[in-house]
Amino acid sequence: MSVTDNTPPQTNESTEVEGAATPFAASHRGFLQELLEVPPAFEEPLSRHTTARVGGPARAYVVLSNVLELKRLLAFLQENRLRHFMLGNGSNVLFTSKGFEGVVLQLGRPFERCEIKGRKVVAGGALLLSALAQRTAAKGLTGLEFGCGIPGTVGGSLVGNAGAGSESMADHLAYVDVLDWGHEIRRYCRGELQFSYRKSNLTELGQVVLGAHFRLADADPKAAKEKIAWLCNYRAETQPLRYPSAGCVFKNPRFDDMPSGQPLLSAGALIDRAGLKGLRVGDAEISTVHANFIINRGGAVSEDMLEVIRRARSRVKATFGVDLELEVRVVEA
Ligand SMILES: Cc1cc2nc3c(=O)[nH]c(=O)nc-3n(C[C@H](O)[C@H](O)[C@H](O)COP(=O)(O)OP(=O)(O)OC[C@H]3O[C@@H](n4cnc5c(N)ncnc54)[C@H](O)[C@@H]3O)c2cc1C
Repeated sequence: MSVTDNTPPQTNESTEVEGAATPFAASHRGFLQELLEVPPAFEEPLSRHTTARVGGPARAYVVLSNVLELKRLLAFLQENRLRHFMLGNGSNVLFTSKGFEGVVLQLGRPFERCEIKGRKVVAGGALLLSALAQRTAAKGLTGLEFGCGIPGTVGGSLVGNAGAGSESMADHLAYVDVLDWGHEIRRYCRGELQFSYRKSNLTELGQVVLGAHFRLADADPKAAKEKIAWLCNYRAETQPLRYPSAGCVFKNPRFDDMPSGQPLLSAGALIDRAGLKGLRVGDAEISTVHANFIINRGGAVSEDMLEVIRRARSRVKATFGVDLELEVRVVEA
């Protein structure tokens, strides 16, 4: 494929240190080893923690066991001007092959709670959406079944307002608990938060989503489970689930993004109609099943994926005049 341009892919980073950051050094290791219940890993390949299975080493990778650890760690990172990145299940992020020059944080098992009382559901930030969907459906509650095939955590999915069809995380949300930028726990009710298509203002209000409360509606458990089975089958038929990927790479354009006179098409349809299905760089390939997925055929590195992204944006722009916006978050090393 000969389409080229020099536009770098958009990047998205939520944890920049103001001014110059301090490089992570051997002297910082001791603090992490002392503080954390789960031993930290150093030079940990991020390909192990992302669904696309690409990404170089994080200087440090830590799993948090409780809020006190989290607060102390964040205070230490702030005092020492160290960069950090809050990772959910890594299903909407691409780290480059340089990895991450700082600390990658993940919420551990204690943040995976799921309590259901009547129609109220309390979910931890690290709980997988698929588990949340299954458990609420089994209790005869409807509203979160759409999450059954989304491989994200509650925290990451609220940040990006994940959704499917016309449903999204914001729909049945009652409130969200975050650790704010002053390291204090704060509760925001739905009305205080802003959600739109694959977007929220949560990272402006806090640095970590600790958990959320949802209010669901009663349903016949059999009907809720059938909806989940139907959604999973539909995904298996329409998405390339046999290969690692980061899901849909681009957001679907809105009507205003289309040049006048052009019908509204999804990002996948635009990439498909631009003739890009099967485009391959190294082991990264635009899926022939769903053109908005870039699959890793086994040995892809981030730069292969980023090159495919660049070519797809460039070709869609040249063919349809549409600027595709990234859904996947590219994290600077
Ligand atoms: C096969 C496949 C299918 C998919 N289908 C869909 C779909 O139908 N709909 C959809 O919307 N998405 C879909 N996705 C994309 C992805 O699963 C969602 O965007 C998901 O919500 C990301 O959650 P995560 O926990 O993996 O977040 P990550 O990818 O780890 O992180 C995403 C962002 O959230 C931030 N973040 C993560 N956790 C926290 C936290 N606890 N506190 C604060 N910030 C946090 C990160 O810093 C990052 O900025 C799909 C992906 C795959 C691989």
